[in-house]
Amino acid sequence: MSVSIVLDIGGTSIKLALARSGDLIAHDKIEVADSRLLEPLLHVISERVDRMMSVAHVDLTELVGIGFAFPCIIDHHRGKILSDYVKYTDAQALDLQTWAQQEWSISAILENDARAALVGEWQYGRGRGSDNLVQMTFGTGIGTAVLIDGQVLRGKHYLAGNLGGHVTLDLNGDVCNCGNIGCVEAVASTWALLQMLKRHVGYTDSPIRQEKYPSYRDVFSLAAQGDELSIKVRDESVKAWGLAMVNMVHSFDPEKIVVSGGVMRSSAEMIPTFQAMLDRHTWAPSRGNVEVVLAENGETAALLGMDYLVQNKG
Ligand SMILES: [Zn+2]
Repeated sequence: MSVSIVLDIGGTSIKLALARSGDLIAHDKIEVADSRLLEPLLHVISERVDRMMSVAHVDLTELVGIGFAFPCIIDHHRGKILSDYVKYTDAQALDLQTWAQQEWSISAILENDARAALVGEWQYGRGRGSDNLVQMTFGTGIGTAVLIDGQVLRGKHYLAGNLGGHVTLDLNGDVCNCGNIGCVEAVASTWALLQMLKRHVGYTDSPIRQEKYPSYRDVFSLAAQGDELSIKVRDESVKAWGLAMVNMVHSFDPEKIVVSGGVMRSSAEMIPTFQAMLDRHTWAPSRGNVEVVLAENGETAALLGMDYLVQNKG
């Protein structure tokens, strides 16, 4: 049986696992909040992988490859990191292929983390059985990825399907951190939340003012307790995300939209609202025929997706 080494590189932690065709046979996590560079972490990753192999009794000859999911733009075909992330500024210059060959005599596959999560849900989660999917992950920002006719969309500059959070919703909106105007993320996302709240006249009287770094969990919780500002921001955000989903349906014609991320897990009640918006606002014949579902694998979807890509060399 073939075993892959899979990693999900995040800003605060790196998740790593050994996988065998959709089965995570060992996993570990490295806290990296204080690390600015990736290169010094490679020996830690290597040690942890070797330890997992020892504990799970995996032999070097069983390894088929290593897969990295990164939160930035990836040239999947050449295995290159193309853009800076807020940290790991050295990552673009690292030769992970050579490193993987030196450590375990295996090749490396790289992919954007939203695409990896999409593949994980397609093969091993709520997307199973559907070859036309949109994945939307609501965390600090909004990550999206698209599968059409069983093919992961990548595009000329490896951006295809990834920018569902950067489609304009508000003509008169702020300039987003991406350079566009009134993006979905600028209108409703965790990173924009504090500014959104402060803009409302009720902010100084709302209990949410006590939160230095308010989250949507705070907004949903205070809205449930009747706080007017939280209700307003919750309803505006849900509307923005629902319209973002309509945009994705109109752009990519999926069978399902798989939603994931901490924001979605904090309130499953949103799913029926999104479903109602799609049923009302999308074009026939997709109207009434696109299902919104909550991701099944959550934290492990990107690891499972990288396992599939490594096992299938794709
Ligand atoms: Zn943007």
